[in-house]
Amino acid sequence: MTDPARIFRYNTLPATSGPVVYWMQRDQRVADNWAWIYALEQALKMNQPLVVVFCLLPEFSGAQQRHFDFMIRGLEVTSRTLSDLKVPFYLLRGDPVEQIPPFLECFRAGMLVTDFNPLKFVIRWKQRIAGQIRVPFHEVDAHNIIPCRFISDKAEYSAFTLRKKVEKLLPRFLVPYPGAVPTDLLRQLPAMESRIEVRYHPGFPETFANQATGAGPIRFKPGEREAQQCMTRFIKTKLAGYDTRRNRPEIDGQSNLSSYLHFGHLAPQRLALRVQKADDGIGSAASFLEELIVRRELSDNFCLYNPDYDNFNGFQRWARVTLDNHRNDTREFLYTPEQFEQAITHDDLWNAAQREMVITGKMHGYLRMYWAKKILEWSGSPDEACEIARYLNDKYEFDGRDPNGYAGIAWAIGGVHDRPWKERPVFGMIRYMNYQGCKRKFDVEAYVRKIKAL
Ligand SMILES: Cc1cc2nc3c(=O)[nH]c(=O)nc-3n(C[C@H](O)[C@H](O)[C@H](O)COP(=O)(O)OP(=O)(O)OC[C@H]3O[C@@H](n4cnc5c(N)ncnc54)[C@H](O)[C@@H]3O)c2cc1C
Repeated sequence: MTDPARIFRYNTLPATSGPVVYWMQRDQRVADNWAWIYALEQALKMNQPLVVVFCLLPEFSGAQQRHFDFMIRGLEVTSRTLSDLKVPFYLLRGDPVEQIPPFLECFRAGMLVTDFNPLKFVIRWKQRIAGQIRVPFHEVDAHNIIPCRFISDKAEYSAFTLRKKVEKLLPRFLVPYPGAVPTDLLRQLPAMESRIEVRYHPGFPETFANQATGAGPIRFKPGEREAQQCMTRFIKTKLAGYDTRRNRPEIDGQSNLSSYLHFGHLAPQRLALRVQKADDGIGSAASFLEELIVRRELSDNFCLYNPDYDNFNGFQRWARVTLDNHRNDTREFLYTPEQFEQAITHDDLWNAAQREMVITGKMHGYLRMYWAKKILEWSGSPDEACEIARYLNDKYEFDGRDPNGYAGIAWAIGGVHDRPWKERPVFGMIRYMNYQGCKRKFDVEAYVRKIKAL
């Protein structure tokens, strides 16, 4: 049974008769999805049909066509799985606030279930939908192992403060998923309603305006099955060396699972359970779980409780003060957003990282820190730096438009979840990184060569 701590009620209306609708948003999968499991439990308990719906927007925080392609192809896999389970799947187009309430009316739905997303505009959609509908509206956290609203009721100061809570609560939440519930016990929709067409046709994604500039082919194959295979490959071939190899961009030591996690094709809880089982006791599993659980869930916490997660005002006071004190410092190099985007700075490492992101859709994790810090160093103000980094990250990364991206940028440019360091020009007391430091950490030349060969 779904742990009640996963559930947040957008209203307190009592259950009514009518189909249960699961509005799938962030967790685009059937397997290991607590929101789907909860919706199924409710439909069975109330002896009502279950319907799944997804709302496709023509624009999403600057995402490009290849991101939409990835998502839509993943949704096709999900819709096939649902079809095998005899659960209807509908793809609506447009703003969920305009699409979901009439959809519920059309089905005379008795309940709306959705998954959790801490981004402010998604929360606003849900609040506005809650104001329009007359059926219970429940949100289930299927993205965090420990539900985000439950683990903490405030923005955590650092990984240290969240880690303490994670350690206490993990045994309750990092548990196996229940076995598959047979969906043939579900009541079926009346014949007329089940004939409403799935409003997806293959030509639709081509109408998206944001074409990728200079992008290479999609590096990852989308969908739940591909995600599971990628996870298995990582555990078999890379987990053992993860703690030493993950910070070396010239080799491919990371899991490359972030796109699947971002689009919800893979459940972090499943990944954590598999990694825990494969633990070799030499530290790699622990170091991976630190990133997957503490760091990732800290990002959701940051975005949920800090509506300025994507701008200067979201930084802590000490960081705003120190950055303000250095606003007028002379910048040795100053680049426009276009020069950054075209990767034409004086720094071959920075340019290579930017090119890696544009071409492959995934910049190496270690370089994301260097990349964002140099944007701070080489732009006119910290506010501008934040905006440029957010724009590029959201536009090019497959895993962009994600709490991890906003928290990562706020960490690099605004010292969020970090502490003050030795004061220096432009950065003030924000942690500094430089080219020489990278050279000590990894083979910079080999990385630059690798990217030139793409
Ligand atoms: C400036 C900046 C921007 C970033 N932008 C994004 C982004 O848009 N989307 C995104 O998912 N991550 C982002 N990150 C965090 C991190 O770099 C990526 O999650 C990671 O590189 C993804 O590759 P991977 O799946 O191979 O990672 P692995 O090293 O294999 O880690 C596995 C998973 O752990 C989580 N994780 C790892 N590192 C972090 C971290 N520092 N913070 C939070 N979670 C982490 C991710 O879910 C990741 O998929 C950003 C970090 C910085 C500093």
